[in-house]
Amino acid sequence: MKTVLIVTRTFGKYSSEPIDLLKNNGFDLRWSDSLDPDILKNVDAIILGTGKLSGDIIQNSSLKIIARNGVGVDNVDLKTATQMGIPVTITVNANTISVAELTMGLIFVLSRKIVAVHNELYERKRFSSSIGVELFGKILGIIGFGAIGKETAKRALCLGMKVLAYDPFVDKQTMAQYSVECVDMETLLKTSDFVSLHLPLNQSTRKLIGKKEFEMMKKTAFLINTSRGGIVDEVALVEALRQNQIAGAALDAFEIEPLPEDSVLYNCPNLILTPHIGAHTYEAIYKMNMMAAQSVVDFFNKKLPKHIANGEVAEKLLKQGFSQ
Ligand code: NAD
Repeated sequence: MKTVLIVTRTFGKYSSEPIDLLKNNGFDLRWSDSLDPDILKNVDAIILGTGKLSGDIIQNSSLKIIARNGVGVDNVDLKTATQMGIPVTITVNANTISVAELTMGLIFVLSRKIVAVHNELYERKRFSSSIGVELFGKILGIIGFGAIGKETAKRALCLGMKVLAYDPFVDKQTMAQYSVECVDMETLLKTSDFVSLHLPLNQSTRKLIGKKEFEMMKKTAFLINTSRGGIVDEVALVEALRQNQIAGAALDAFEIEPLPEDSVLYNCPNLILTPHIGAHTYEAIYKMNMMAAQSVVDFFNKKLPKHIANGEVAEKLLKQGFSQ
């Protein structure tokens, strides 16, 4: 009997279907709150949340497949997994709509200062008059025009916003099909009223948005990051907000999570923080859980799981006789 270790708090919490899917296919399930190297020496598969799976742990484990319960792979040492021939699967599109909707929510919150006025009224009983901005006619600049970037663009266009995008891997024609204008990053930063990040964290995107980028943005502009912490230089962001270099920002992802108690982000003006809730909807959790469980089932049935992040391993599996 194959054993699957589940290291993500939401798996099977709101629906038993993902658990049933694994059990009905003969898997033994184990649960853990942490990535204990000793436990990982005795399991065949892992369904992984956001915990960091280092190269060392992977190398000393008995894992045959790593199924991410999400789309980012920045918490998995992909190089080691690839060297060891271990497929790392992701749950593409399962949380796309949820993240795009949260992004729009944060845009609304920033544009009308909803959290600030709520706090004034609720905590200080002050009926303050606050002036916001309309979204209609404003420019949304999207950095990273993948699944979430596209869904965010569709929603912004419905509100009468103009949408620009920068993505070195997506062509002008594709963007035009979505009624989005393809621009370079400098143009996007200089002209957008809202800049929203929807790109992966990797070596080339770490601290992509820092002091220089904030200086390019309009003083009336807002930054929204529902992608990954680490893409935004948090110290430079706080400085930009304190100096009124930009009007405000909203972050759902942080360089260190959970956000440390001494983070520079606390007590910063015009900053909205949400605790990495982009994918936290019943719908997204259900889809992610089912896709992750299905990847494990497929793999042990010698069927190539959908959405393998390390393509080299997918090719090897096909050569070994896995069906598509
Ligand atoms: P995706 O792979 O569909 O799209 C990412 C896009 O970023 C791609 O089109 C890629 O070409 C582009 N890109 C890569 N490098 C770039 C660069 N240097 N500059 C500009 N664009 C670049 O991924 P997605 O599903 O749209 O997810 C986007 C981000 O959202 C990821 O970082 C993911 O981890 C994050 N995410 C966050 C949450 C959350 O809970 N907040 C949930 C899901 C995904």
